[in-house]
Amino acid sequence: MPSAWDRPAPELIEEMTNSNLLGWSLHECIDWMKSIDQPGYRGEQLFQGIQQQRWTAAAEFSTLPESLRKTLEKETSIYYPLIIHSRSSQDGSTKHIFRLRDDLEIEGVYMPYRNRITLCLSSQIGCAMGCTFCATGDMGIKRNLTASEIVGQVLSMLTKHGYKASGKPTDIPLNLVFMGMGEPLHNLDHVMKSVQILIDPKGLAIPSRRITISTSGLVPGIDRLGSFSPRPKLAVSLNGSQDDYRSKIMPVNRVWNLASLKECILRFPLGPREWITLEYVLLKNLTDRPSDMQSLLRFAKDIPCKINLIPFNSHEGSGFDTPSEARISQCCQILAQTGLIVSVRRSRGQDIGGACGQLVRDED
Ligand code: SAH
Ligand code: SF4
Repeated sequence: MPSAWDRPAPELIEEMTNSNLLGWSLHECIDWMKSIDQPGYRGEQLFQGIQQQRWTAAAEFSTLPESLRKTLEKETSIYYPLIIHSRSSQDGSTKHIFRLRDDLEIEGVYMPYRNRITLCLSSQIGCAMGCTFCATGDMGIKRNLTASEIVGQVLSMLTKHGYKASGKPTDIPLNLVFMGMGEPLHNLDHVMKSVQILIDPKGLAIPSRRITISTSGLVPGIDRLGSFSPRPKLAVSLNGSQDDYRSKIMPVNRVWNLASLKECILRFPLGPREWITLEYVLLKNLTDRPSDMQSLLRFAKDIPCKINLIPFNSHEGSGFDTPSEARISQCCQILAQTGLIVSVRRSRGQDIGGACGQLVRDED
């Protein structure tokens, strides 16, 4: 039986997308300028105005002559996803709800740390993968996000949190993680277009090694991601280390089982000092037993990886529980004593429903 992720996800209607400058790459800006008989450097000025100055109306493009601003106004648009609701957590992170052009809503999370900022981005509205422990999975798939909607989440959150719009985006390093709503590899074209824009030295210039794409294990998508250069880092959500149970909680495993996933991870072309993150959700008494850690170790063997344990974030009606602290540290110890690098994701924003897998509209 074909799965929901075999089909491309629905898209935002085209006429709403193409003219939105937030989704134009530097090349597209240059090509557009050339198409109206302008020199290439005008394209650079346009791109910088959007990505670095964060100008929101054609009239603001003070680097362009007035006649050009008029053409810009007539032929293009600048549309930011609108932040309609924000909730801050005690740990300093803030979950934002964005309203899109077709009135659908997504979420993104801003997480400040001492020496960096991490923005958690959505890649789709809902998700087709149907993982049983995940609140986003319960929604099903509504549609892909466009590159402009992904870039828009970043620009909006920077503005909202007071990062000055000029030159370098922030004084401290900015990390992006595609760990919000959606399966980024089910929307790889738009995700990679947004990455191309976000890493551009004439724009926000975010180094590609500071961007991570997390996938539930779409093998052809991982292979395709590996063919891009530069490309973001890869994180794989393992969550079950034995086929029978992983197939129960992650339907994707019925198509690409652990053996095919591991083969694919092993052929992923890693750069020097690069590793893959294996994310593993700890579900009480289901995936958190010492025997589960042993099979996780068998899977991780030979893979240059770090392991990220994620204690289950509970949400209503999930039917799963969060392990005790003692059990979490036991899991950590079993893995770490083999020399693996292990971290426990202390889910930020847990009290605001912004932690992993809690990204659904929930405040109404
Ligand atoms: N779709 C991608 C990225 C978004 S989910 C993926 O699955 O990797 C981001 C991470 O949150 C994944 O590792 C996923 O396993 C985890 N996750 C989902 N629901 C969760 C929950 N309720 N508690 C803890 N982690 C969860
Ligand atoms: Fe989709 Fe990831 Fe949730 Fe699975 S865990 S349903 S892939 S968002």
